[in-house]
Amino acid sequence: MTTSKHPETLALHAGWRRDSATNAVAVPIYQTTSYQFDSAEHAANLFGLKELGNIYTRIMNPTQDALEQRLAALEGGVAALGLASGQAASAFCVQNLARAGDNVVASTDLYGGTWNLFANTLKDQGIEVRFVDPENPEAFANATDDKTRVYYAETLPNPKLIPFPIAEVAAIGRKFGIPLVMDNTAAPLLVRPFDHGAAVVMYSTTKYIGGHGTSIGGAVIDGGNFDWEANPARQPAMNTPDPSYHGAVWSQAVKPLGPIAYILKMRVTLLRDLGAAMAPFNAFLFLQGLETLPLRMREHSKNARAVADFLSGRKDVTRVIHPAHHKGWAAERSAQYMPKGQGGLVGFELAGGTEAGRKFINALKLFYHVANIGDARSLAIHPASTTHSQLTESEQASTGVTPGYVRLSIGLEHIDDILGDLSQALDAASR
Ligand code: PLP
Repeated sequence: MTTSKHPETLALHAGWRRDSATNAVAVPIYQTTSYQFDSAEHAANLFGLKELGNIYTRIMNPTQDALEQRLAALEGGVAALGLASGQAASAFCVQNLARAGDNVVASTDLYGGTWNLFANTLKDQGIEVRFVDPENPEAFANATDDKTRVYYAETLPNPKLIPFPIAEVAAIGRKFGIPLVMDNTAAPLLVRPFDHGAAVVMYSTTKYIGGHGTSIGGAVIDGGNFDWEANPARQPAMNTPDPSYHGAVWSQAVKPLGPIAYILKMRVTLLRDLGAAMAPFNAFLFLQGLETLPLRMREHSKNARAVADFLSGRKDVTRVIHPAHHKGWAAERSAQYMPKGQGGLVGFELAGGTEAGRKFINALKLFYHVANIGDARSLAIHPASTTHSQLTESEQASTGVTPGYVRLSIGLEHIDDILGDLSQALDAASR
């Protein structure tokens, strides 16, 4: 196993050398539901968490395990959990700590699906999510009370594409005993939230980690850097007996296995009970994606930067949204958090509003018109007439979506072809 710290090497070597049964180099797809126990004692040890090992694929699987180890290594965390989707990962990150009557403080700048989950489904479950503007990190402290269990934010939220103040909010949370969970979906490898003090990182692996638009998946990574016992009243889910596991107190029960209490609890309670497991075949595809992730993130960043520069020279574009094109405090955040590259997302505003947005999308020939990001191919969407069409115009405006706003996820095609397609579609939209 590699001892390298370099992502290029870890993406190919961390967590796996060869299959112990066959010497296969590629991680096999362990398409099995269950695993033969060696003996009655072995089975009892596995169920009693005295020993970690395979029981049933809803809670663990060797293909998922290789992916989880590789993700944890790349992120600088201690352990990970693969899940069926990014949505499942977001829900579990909160539900692992917050119960009915508790609350979460979250950034206003979130993916729409996360917003719905937080504002509606978690609310129905009795968990209140308080949304605060991340421009001022102190807003997190101001919204905190005795029942606040989690802080939650996205590293590079769209449409604004302003990096979140991870270090500032993580430090506030640590004073209270509240962990910061970062959704790092849009910036894998470019930002490592644990380096800035976050306690948990989650991904929709559907995006850049898969990288080829083939599979839905999610992952949660435990930084192993949070002291769950420091303030027991703040984190009752980690510090009071869990009746679903013979009264285990999670902050204590798994100490001999390392600082993995948060992620192990999630695996053996939420995943056991709610069943949002990642399919072994999808885990295999995410491993394929990870192998080239360092290369791809560099190319996505390079092409997107070139697109942002190109758009800023067009008369029919009134605004370009890209981390390297911000001004003032937002530019400082980009410089602080994204010096290695600014990712593959670019937003822009067409002078001609909704009508121009529709014409632009219809004129694209190379770009795909899809509700996704992070594919190897270039993608475009006009949120006002699609993803955000159920919102009123003022609700759209509060999420940063204006009538002429277009979101691009820049792919790995040759930059001349990307700019050529944008150029002809912009011309068509102005006619
Ligand atoms: N988080 C972010 C930032 C996303 O963009 C998405 C999906 O678009 C999700 C979470 C949800 O992930 P999934 O679609 O894999 O459930």
